[in-house]
Amino acid sequence: TVATKALFERAKVTIPGGAGSTARLPRNGWKPYPLFMAEGQGSRLRDVDGNEYIDYLLGLGPMILGHRHPQVTQAVTDAVAELGTCFGLPYELEIEAAEKVVAAVPGIDQVRFTNSGSEAVGTAVRLARATTGRRLIVRFEGHYHGWQDTVYWSNHVDPELAGPIDHPRPVAMGGGVPAELQDTLVVLNWNDPESFIALMETRGHEVAAVLTEPAVFNTGCILPEPGYLELLREQTRKHGALLIFDEVITGFRFARGGAQEWFGVTADLVTYAKGIGGGFPVAAIGGTNEAMRLIADGTYSHSGTYNANVVQCAAVSATMDVLAEPGLYERQRALGNRLARGLEGIATAKGIDAYVEGIGTVFQLWFADRPIRNWRDAAAHAREDIFTRWYEEMIVRGVLFHPLQFENLFVSLVHTDEDIDATLNAAEDALSVV
Ligand code: PMP
Repeated sequence: TVATKALFERAKVTIPGGAGSTARLPRNGWKPYPLFMAEGQGSRLRDVDGNEYIDYLLGLGPMILGHRHPQVTQAVTDAVAELGTCFGLPYELEIEAAEKVVAAVPGIDQVRFTNSGSEAVGTAVRLARATTGRRLIVRFEGHYHGWQDTVYWSNHVDPELAGPIDHPRPVAMGGGVPAELQDTLVVLNWNDPESFIALMETRGHEVAAVLTEPAVFNTGCILPEPGYLELLREQTRKHGALLIFDEVITGFRFARGGAQEWFGVTADLVTYAKGIGGGFPVAAIGGTNEAMRLIADGTYSHSGTYNANVVQCAAVSATMDVLAEPGLYERQRALGNRLARGLEGIATAKGIDAYVEGIGTVFQLWFADRPIRNWRDAAAHAREDIFTRWYEEMIVRGVLFHPLQFENLFVSLVHTDEDIDATLNAAEDALSVV
């Protein structure tokens, strides 16, 4: 860790905190400095001291094709060489990218590209309000929808300290909506049909949109209980509100059509980011023709200098081609499940209360003595202290994932059986120590 330490000292001078991302590793405050990376290739990372890691962090999710996928890297290089990077005007590659996304995903007719998941969600929320002429957004405890203040959670900062950009203050992860926001925001317990039905019965006529992660991947991994997404769909239709699926994590992740394909429930508006460009920085908002109507007729201006630039559209187009390979998802879901079940089995055999939840290529190993069904369960019962020990013991054995249990392990579409075997061997060792 000599080189990484030197880089950290250097970085702190010009980069506040010494790193551009809050997700620098190891976790903030743990051990003296974060790891600085030198190279990514496929499922592997190498740090500046030459240590190699099997990577289940995958850039916080986007590297669904692993690092430096040759087809996508080449397509982006070729497109930039031929076209340049940014026109601020339309061009054919944008249509190609849009056509491929719409063809890959059920439920959406149209798509607009942008830069980050936060921007895509911001657009979806504002579009839903403009479309319905209502203000109220319903969202759920423990779901993360980006770093902007507007209606969604930010735990990035003490709300009293930061003050507003466009809103009185951000709202904490665990609910508790301040009085001044109660006309525009309700935060409910998830996987809890009664509270949702009660809200819709009393305030359904005020609701512009219900915003949800279709499976929660920002409170570890929590899948929807049978019928829950269907309930959100049915109630939003009944009360004239839009349903927004925030598929920033789930999109293209465990099925090409994302959560809409996997769970068989479609939304009015859908946001994508991680994954859609195979790791290149691009996001998108998709929707039905009806939900996109105000953008189509020019009433709602979806502006953004870098929206739909050449790098984005080339990356999306090539990624959609790679993801169309027959059998790709089945194979990788089986591989991810082998890892997930293997980890669960090792932990259980060692007498540790743990279980796995997820869908093959994204899952979490929960250290808990009971099933976690929502944020309230997680806050009360998930053992972050055990998770931290597990993380520390795995990273020194060359296996890297997010240091927080409230995140996930990501398996790319290029991880191999050898990666899984090596990880299970490391886990056997690591969980003995834990
Ligand atoms: N929505 C969800 C579900 C997310 O997981 C994230 C990022 N973790 C975002 C939105 C925000 O995306 P970005 O970081 O690209 O702004």
